Amino acid sequence: MKKRFTLFALTTLAIILTACRTVPETGRKGLSLVSDEMLANLSEVSFNQLKEKDKVSKNKAYNQQLDRVARAIITQANQTTDLPPVSQWEWVVFDNDEVVNAFAMPGGKIGVYTGMFDLIETDDDLAVVIGHEVAHVAAHHGNERVSRVLLITGVGIGLGVATGGQDADTQRAILAAYGLGSTVGVALPFSRRDESEADHIGLLYSSRAGYDPRVSIPFWEKMGAQSKFKMPEFLSTHPSHNTRIRNLEVLMPQALAEYNEATRNK
Ligand SMILES: [Zn+2]
Repeated sequence: MKKRFTLFALTTLAIILTACRTVPETGRKGLSLVSDEMLANLSEVSFNQLKEKDKVSKNKAYNQQLDRVARAIITQANQTTDLPPVSQWEWVVFDNDEVVNAFAMPGGKIGVYTGMFDLIETDDDLAVVIGHEVAHVAAHHGNERVSRVLLITGVGIGLGVATGGQDADTQRAILAAYGLGSTVGVALPFSRRDESEADHIGLLYSSRAGYDPRVSIPFWEKMGAQSKFKMPEFLSTHPSHNTRIRNLEVLMPQALAEYNEATRNK
């Protein structure tokens, strides 16, 4: 019995060790037990459902601004990651002025609610938000979050490996059984560490895309100061305001150097 348990523990350890990958920019080792392809399939389904449920905004200015900034930042992220090319990403403005929020799903789906644009004056401001969201995707926080839940349920290892070769319907059914099917992209909150990491990586991506990183501090201050709206992504598990600003200040010299390099010949 004891021997069998040891064997199980060793096998589990071996799988976890081989199921880690390095997060871009920070170098942290992240857990990755489920296939990216499967998560991308699930994201697509969730995103399509959202587009049917929530009204998609036809506001030309918002859509053009999002298009411009998302393209520029994803292009930078693609320089150092294995993310899908810009052409395979999708970004949508959702029409709801009451929601000051944005989100990203594994595989490259981004949603920004019109309420967010009330706080956005320039492309530099929007780049703070989009950099953060693209960073969640680049760091594979979605995969890590699902992996962590599967691991905690105790069936994670077998399940994670098993879902790899299943068709999309079976994958959905399996994950739905663990309450993950429809929440894989949006509803499960990221941890504070993931949020700080997204700030970190996002600041570098937006700087390299030529957006002024210095606006991030007043922008997050503005976000923190307004309490009129519900902000599931940006306030629920986000680092405390002071921690967030302090972290940005520490990173600012590096971000400014990247920004100056990117804008030198413009
Ligand atoms: Zn976030």
